[in-house]
Amino acid sequence: MEKDNKKVAMPPKDGGADDKFKKARRPMKRKVCEFCEKGIAEIDYKDVQRLRRYTTEKGKIVSARTSGCCARHQRELTVAIKRARNMALLAFKAE
Ligand SMILES: [Zn+2]
Repeated sequence: MEKDNKKVAMPPKDGGADDKFKKARRPMKRKVCEFCEKGIAEIDYKDVQRLRRYTTEKGKIVSARTSGCCARHQRELTVAIKRARNMALLAFKAE
């Protein structure tokens, strides 16, 4: 006597169940690099007012993704902020 081992096809998994966990992503508004817009070629480390806008309240440098800076200006911005920190114009860390 031969046994027929047929595989039973699994019912299709319900894909709709996970949908409630997905967040609706709306397209982000494209940010324009402030320094490009204003035609600032070199970022001044003495410009504390501006640099402060690119740091978090804890003193961290805001990422390019958040700041909207282009790669070139983000690079200059980090250098400027680091210089300002060494000149004690900006805080390394919030107290
Ligand atoms: Zn730029």
